[in-house]
Amino acid sequence: MSMNSLPELDRDHLIHPVTSFRGHEAAGVRVLRSANGARITDTEGHELVDGFAGLWCVNTGYGQESIVEAATEQLRRLPYATGYFGLGSEPAIRLAASLAERTPGDLDHIYFTLGGSDAVDSALRFIRYFQQARGMPGKDQVISIEKGYHGSSTVGAGLTGLPAFHEGFGVPLDWQHKIPSPYPYRNPVGEDPQAIIDASTRALSDKIAELGAERVAAFFVEPIQGSGGVIVPPKGWLKAMAETCRAHDVLFVADEVITAFGRTGPLFASADEDVIPDLMTVAKGLTSGYVPMGAVFMREHVYATIADGAGSHTVGHGHTYSAHPVSAAVGLEVLRLYEDGLLENGRRMGTRLLDGLQGLAAHPLVGEVRGKGMLAAIELVTDKAARTPLPAAAEPGQRLFDRAWEEGVLLRAFPSGVLGFAPPLCCTEAEIDRIVEITARVLDRTLE
Ligand code: PMP
Repeated sequence: MSMNSLPELDRDHLIHPVTSFRGHEAAGVRVLRSANGARITDTEGHELVDGFAGLWCVNTGYGQESIVEAATEQLRRLPYATGYFGLGSEPAIRLAASLAERTPGDLDHIYFTLGGSDAVDSALRFIRYFQQARGMPGKDQVISIEKGYHGSSTVGAGLTGLPAFHEGFGVPLDWQHKIPSPYPYRNPVGEDPQAIIDASTRALSDKIAELGAERVAAFFVEPIQGSGGVIVPPKGWLKAMAETCRAHDVLFVADEVITAFGRTGPLFASADEDVIPDLMTVAKGLTSGYVPMGAVFMREHVYATIADGAGSHTVGHGHTYSAHPVSAAVGLEVLRLYEDGLLENGRRMGTRLLDGLQGLAAHPLVGEVRGKGMLAAIELVTDKAARTPLPAAAEPGQRLFDRAWEEGVLLRAFPSGVLGFAPPLCCTEAEIDRIVEITARVLDRTLE
């Protein structure tokens, strides 16, 4: 047993999933010890409200005994089953069937992964197989959106529209293309919803025409851009994008890794927008962060084309932990909890959160308050009229995070000066109010 403290051991050995190596080492790790409901406690005994559900994933909240029981029971009975060799396990089969019943339209065929990045990778694989099975192997170009985030694998980072994830990595790959973000607060066409929808439709059509529709396989989109700063497109935008894809024989892929499972209100954000994507990726809320799991859903026509085109030969794609039985058992219980009141509570608390944050709109640092359901953001500016972003050079992200932490709330502070909110759906009114009050204090301290 080492005599070194946890922060020292962390500094010397554990690489964190962030961009600033030495920055973390200098500040020292904050070690979380336990959590319950929407509350997290660190090893110093400091208790906070988790305003970001971990990393927008612990949608049910922590300490849900029935999830612990489901996982424990499955660990005892059958901790592992491969999906290779035509094998399977009961929880995986039941979870696939339960999800298929709830997805929009005929998004009925499901491949399970470990998280979001490999769900995106898998979707790309299936898209290639689909076009090849149709006899169109040259239809292999993919379009996504600036400020989108689709994971940290080579493929996912290339689809991502945030330059920090590209630098020094040889991505985007030559078949990955971008169109501008709909970003209402900073769109050159202004904030009029129809103007934004028209501009994005034109940008997508033009990009497809430029590449040649016979070469464009798919378009990837988040219903709300999460890691880009919680960018909420106008109502009807997602449907317009889906229709543009359909008109050009391009597969429409909704990346719902953040937006699914109650985060924006319903189980799936696409359903709210009256869209049935050809493929859909999820992770995070699928198992509420208790164990890792992601998934790709595909519509009947996509599945049938791949299956028929491939005939009896195997497609070269798979993961050791695909459809992991413990994750699946957790997923089934998590789904039950969502439908047993959590989605409903999340919708009520989401309204309270957004109303509360709107109450801060007059603050001199607040440029815009936006969100949907239990997903919200405040974009901070130094000049409200000119919409001047907080200067990123001074690392306002980390400072804002630290201040919120000291006051008692875990918030996401994006380097662009956007504060992100994604609390667990189980939050109480008092917890939502505490998030809003502390945000107000953090803003006041930032002015000092
Ligand atoms: N897609 C989206 C929309 C995401 O937000 C994320 C993660 N934040 C991913 C994909 C990647 O998921 P993971 O981190 O589980 O690999």
